[in-house]
Parts: sequence; structure tokens; C-alpha cells
Amino acid sequence: MAAGEDKQRPASYRDVTVGDLLELLARDYPENEALIYPDIPLRHTFSQLEWVARRLAKGLTAYGVKNGDRVALWAPNVPEWVPLQFALAKIGAILVTVNTSLCEQELDYLLKQSETGTLITVRGFRDNDYIGAINRILPELASADGELNSARLPFLKRVIYIGGDDSPAGTIRYDSLLSASDQVSDRQLDEVARQVQVDDVINMQYTSGTTGFPKGVMLSSRNIVNNGYWLGEGLGYTERDRVCVPVPFFHCFGCVIGVLGAYTHAAAIVPLECYDPLKVLQHVEKERCTSLYGVPTMFLGELEQLDYHSFDLSSLRTGVMAGALCPEPLMRRVMDKMRLNELTIAYGLTEASPGITQTPRTDSVELRTQTVGQVLPEVEVRIVNPLTGERCADDESGELCCRGYNVMRGYYNNPKATFEAIDNEGWLHTGDQASLDAEGYVRITGRIKDLIIRGGENIAPKEIEDLLRLHPGISDVYVYGIPDDKYGEDVAAAIRLNPGEALSADEIREFCRDRIARFKIPRQIRFVDSFPMTASGKVQKFKLREMHTRNEPA
Ligand code: AMP
Repeated sequence: MAAGEDKQRPASYRDVTVGDLLELLARDYPENEALIYPDIPLRHTFSQLEWVARRLAKGLTAYGVKNGDRVALWAPNVPEWVPLQFALAKIGAILVTVNTSLCEQELDYLLKQSETGTLITVRGFRDNDYIGAINRILPELASADGELNSARLPFLKRVIYIGGDDSPAGTIRYDSLLSASDQVSDRQLDEVARQVQVDDVINMQYTSGTTGFPKGVMLSSRNIVNNGYWLGEGLGYTERDRVCVPVPFFHCFGCVIGVLGAYTHAAAIVPLECYDPLKVLQHVEKERCTSLYGVPTMFLGELEQLDYHSFDLSSLRTGVMAGALCPEPLMRRVMDKMRLNELTIAYGLTEASPGITQTPRTDSVELRTQTVGQVLPEVEVRIVNPLTGERCADDESGELCCRGYNVMRGYYNNPKATFEAIDNEGWLHTGDQASLDAEGYVRITGRIKDLIIRGGENIAPKEIEDLLRLHPGISDVYVYGIPDDKYGEDVAAAIRLNPGEALSADEIREFCRDRIARFKIPRQIRFVDSFPMTASGKVQKFKLREMHTRNEPA
């Protein structure tokens, strides 16, 4: 940003890098609150946040982090998260977000596939011991003095530790980043920041997609800043808004719709370190939040709390429900009981930064609960027959394809998968089944891709099937989603054992325990002799699902 530029608020905060966005906000709204953690308590204005982010950016540079380096952040929504998001963006390092529930093997895969050079982490989350897992993957860490040299993870050079307690052996303390910032001058940092372009990849998120192995979705500043901007516009945000963000920052819902949706309108965010329905309501009341986000399961949890406690939620105006199918009765209850009169549904996927459609907040309640709204500005949508590729007529169901600034830059180190997802005319094939009506409203009618969405978390059945097929007692297995009142969907598995085997469901779950994240472990397991097949020999998962719900033997 050139000195002496117009001090007026720009027409809109978009088409800028993530790093420059914060600089603009610190210039235009220095005293406005930006980041609030009421419990700690921590309250940063935009100028304070910019100051911390610059110091961190210098510290990271002093430790050798460079433009294009992958930096994985494995932590819940800790207060360091947002400053790091901007610090990394300022130096052009790529923030690789890591699901907090991953287990050791999944982390190992992610660090390898992303060729991560720096891992930033906390001691652990819930009963997941992160440092224990890291030490097992990287036994050389404990005795490291200076840069790491691991045969298993040759790209990984350093582990940075966020935590007030003693830092684990071999790690660099987060505070040391701040103290090392003196080694880099403002001029040096500005020089580094100038190299960062708006179309450079700035963020990578691992999504299960439909294949067994998670893929790293590469997103640029233009992808995510502009998407945040348009979703924020749809919510009518101004600098007076205060957005409660209980969704995780490791997902686009948190770091794009949350952080950037708010900041592109100079609104403040009130994050929760991790979801807790009671705390969400307390934060909304205490901080007079005007907007609230959540996947359907989260809103359900908050409504349950409202049966026992009362809160003053009169400040609430709007919000976003997204991430999974948003049932109409739930939408209506949330609008009514939580006073979220202007609640919107957003639909999208990580590969689309994530937003594709959103319900206009002033539309009729019917349209805001029965559709996922209209296509966002500057984005094109078309519905095609997945078999012929031909465009569907109005109201006819087909695969939703999307084109525009929001389509990802591709999957990291995976041109084949990128080619399969984005056709040569630039259309992203979402794998979601939808229809479009003459007024431009989109309805999600099903899912073409083999994916389970449990409480907003995507689960690729193939990943679980591949794991279970490694079990010596299992002959074959198919994993599918079953309806669940709390999570929308849950994971079920139909298993054929090898002759003479007598495994129990608990033994199978135990086998999964340290190999995949807990939310992916099949809750319901059925032992079968055969699987329903098509004439061409493909297993029919919809039949397995039907048989499961009707409790029929296979
Ligand atoms: P993710 O990449 O984790 O954001 O997951 C994206 C997937 O979640 C989409 O492809 C859809 O299948 C599903 N999804 C997201 N939002 C909605 C919504 N509002 N209604 C129905 N499904 C949704």
C-alpha cells in the first residue's frame, strides 16, 4: 500500500491480498474492535492486530519462513490463530489448516503431502495429545538444536509451540517469534510483502472430497477475500457488526466466511476456542453480537440450551447456517427462538472458497428455508446431467457446476484430481445434485459424490473402507451414511468377514481408534454375507442405507 494514498474507506475491500486487507483496516478503522475473546480477556483493535501480525511476520521471517512455504497450523480457534493467518499472508507463506480431530497417521500424511516446512501447534485438543503424536512421527524433534533434519518428513524444518506452559523439547516458542521480530526491519518486511500477489496461493485446506486420500485445496487471496466480501455483503455487514464465530478456523466457514466475511466490512469477530453451545449464547449476550454462524448441529445444541437458560439475544440480527443440509424446521426455530430474523443459508464447498449461493436475507421465509438461495455475484452456476454433460432444464436436478473468481487454484501436487474437478472451460464440478428455478433459486436435491457429512464434517467413505480392508479378518466392507437426528448423518459400515472370523463391532472400532479421527469411526456396524450390486457389479450404497434403516438382512 503506497504511503499517502486516499485515506477514505475504499469502495470495497476486495481484490487485495489477505495481508494488505489488514493494513487497510488498520489505516481506515484503527480504533475499531477486530478480535474479541471475552474469557481471556483479549480485545484487539484493527491497529493492534496489524501491529501483532507485523511482528509475527518479522519473527517468522527471522526464523527462515519464506514466500510460498507451507506452514501448517494444528490448533483449535486459539487467540494466536487470526494474527498468524495475517502474519503468514503478509510474507506470502501458505497457511495449511489442519483439522483438530486428526490422528497421528492422518497428520503424518498431511505434512508429507503438503510438503510443510513449519508446523505450528498446541499441546493437544480434548483427549488428542498433539505433542505425543508429533514426537512419534518426528523422534528427532526432542533433541533438535536448530533446524530439523527428518528422513521421514524432509521438508519439515521447525515446530512452533503455542502454549503458556513449558514448551516441549525441540520446539520454538510462539513468544520467541515476537522477540525475534527485532531482527527484521520494517523496510525488509515491506519488501517481502510487496512480492505477494493477489492470485498467489495463500491458503491450503485438506478436504476428504470423495477419494480415499484428503486433497489440499489451494486458495488465493482473491479467492478468499472476494468470497468473504460477497458473503458479508449478503449479510449486510458494516463496521458496526459483531460476528460470533463458533465454527472452526481450520475450515473455510471459520477463516473465510468468519474472519474475512467480517473484516472485508470492518466488522469485529468474537470467536470461540471450540464449540460449546452455552458459551456461544453467553458470548452473544455479553458482546452484543449481531451475527451468529454455525452448522445445523451447532444451532440445534444452542436451541437445546435455550430450553433451560434464558439469554438476552436481542442484539442478533443475522447469521449463516451452512456446511450441510439445513432442515427447514430447524431454520424456522432458529429464526424464531434466537431472533435471527435475517438468518441466511450459504451453500458451497472448500474448492469454491467456499461460497457459491446464499439466501438473500430479506427474502420470504419460504425461500430462505426451502432453497440455498441465489448464486453469489460474479459467480456462474449451471446444472448439468452428470452422464451426458448437457445442461438441465429449469427445476430439473443435475450436478451443480460453478465458475468464477472463487474456484480454487487446484489440488496441491495432484494435477489428476484437479483435472477431474475443473473441466477445461473452468467449471468446477461440485458432486452435489441440485436444481435451479427460473427465478435463479438453487435447491440442493442430493449428492452425487460418495461423501458423508456428519455435523458439518466431511467424511470420505473410501478412506474408511481402505483402512478396514487392511484388517486381516475383513473380506470386504462398504461405508455409507445413515440419517441421524443430531448430526444430520452418521457413519455406518456393512462388513463381510473372512470365513471362520468372529469379530465384534467393538473390535472393529478399536482397530480404527488410532488410525483415523474419531468422528470417522463407524458408529453402526452390520455384518453381512453379501452386498447389493448393480448388474455391472457396483455396490449400491443407497440400498445398503435403505436396508440399514429398515433393519433388513443383506
Ligand atoms: P466442505 O468442502 O467441507 O465445505 O463441504 C462441502 C459440502 O457440504 C458440499 O459439497 C455439500 O455437499 C455440503 N453443503 C455445504 N453447504 C450446504 C448446504 N447449505 N446445504 C446442503 N449441503 C451443503
